[in-house]
Amino acid sequence: MAFDEILLETDQCNKCGFCLPACPTYQITGNELASPRGRIAMVEALARGEIGVGPGLSESLDYCLGCRACETACPSGVHYGVILEAGRTRLREERGGSGREPWLVRQALRQVGNPRRLARMIGLARRLKDFPMPRKLKRFTPMLGPTQSVPAPIQSIASPTSPSVQFFNGCVMSAVFPEANQAARNLLVMSGVVVQEPSNQSCCGALHWHAGDKETAMGFAKRNIVSFEDNPGWVVNTAGGCGAMLLEYRTLLADDRDWQERAERFSARVRDWSTVLMQLGQPLRMRGQRERVTLQNSCHLVNVEKAGDDAVALLEQIQDHEFSPIAGQNTCCGSAGVYNLTHPDWALKILDQKMADVRTVSPQRILVNNPGCQLQMQWGAQRIADDLTVEVEHLATYTYRAAMRGRQP
Ligand code: SF4
Ligand code: SF4
Repeated sequence: MAFDEILLETDQCNKCGFCLPACPTYQITGNELASPRGRIAMVEALARGEIGVGPGLSESLDYCLGCRACETACPSGVHYGVILEAGRTRLREERGGSGREPWLVRQALRQVGNPRRLARMIGLARRLKDFPMPRKLKRFTPMLGPTQSVPAPIQSIASPTSPSVQFFNGCVMSAVFPEANQAARNLLVMSGVVVQEPSNQSCCGALHWHAGDKETAMGFAKRNIVSFEDNPGWVVNTAGGCGAMLLEYRTLLADDRDWQERAERFSARVRDWSTVLMQLGQPLRMRGQRERVTLQNSCHLVNVEKAGDDAVALLEQIQDHEFSPIAGQNTCCGSAGVYNLTHPDWALKILDQKMADVRTVSPQRILVNNPGCQLQMQWGAQRIADDLTVEVEHLATYTYRAAMRGRQP
């Protein structure tokens, strides 16, 4: 799509402002340029040639979390995500590619395509986090929780008529939280599903696309589409951010005649693991540990996959625990890909608001369904550790323990 065609999307916005209260960056600033309406107006003005690429535009778009809460709130069905990505891609082109990106962003984009290297780096960071290091890096170490043990794979009980799914690992999930992926695979197997793992799958490309590097994202998308084409079953994953990106391959490749249909077929098969369990009628008996838990629902799962209710429904089916939702359960925690690395001050303001919501419920455990949220909420748990002890865990490992407890007499 030529950049000025984005006017077809921006014209859908009637500037009513209904999206403003849903926007975390508008909430913390009260600034129109940090709102969806202001950002849409900036991209529109750029496409009309009324403004150039300057600090105002770049700051307005850079500070957007990409959480898409504005899309859910918009009564006119404006595709904010498409407008944002078009603006960011244009910005990146004008800036001359990756050379102007902050060092941390360049490193993150380089590492995510290689889960083994990423796992080694995270392991090293966990070991070194208590040693002296530059303040710029030290401030992020509270994100790194302890290493968790990975559950053993469960033997399949499938029959020839069992449904089969293809599991998308995701590079950050498999490098940093492999226990959650294995827990989800085990839950699917316990529910009678055959779980396959296509071997040539790659990074979903979300971080690249959101940074405006559409070309690299398209390369990852094509590789994944080919890798998952052998089997028509659902493409299942445990990360709200990856799931949303996989779902958006249909948008990313919409202008590519050779790939648009294949991308459409692929995206139509994408499901979160919790959605699959609920669509199977959730056959497992699950028991908690008589503790109070709350949920930080991934904003991409809620606003893009529209599957946040499945995570809630799953939690409501677990016996012997108290599920206490927080006020901002479905709003962004401030993680947003690498946002908490590139804009830590705003990310912390959003996180502190989230932790204030958590305090009102006083849970023993915060459950998450996205790796970025897990890192961010671990940071949040450290920030309130003086007056509340709270664990942070992926919903899949928690549910798996509950299902194993439910098997006991
Ligand atoms: S994006 Fe939607 S809700 Fe927001 S100002 Fe435009 S039309 Fe209104
Ligand atoms: S994506 Fe999120 S942060 Fe960005 S404008 Fe929409 S609601 Fe605000």
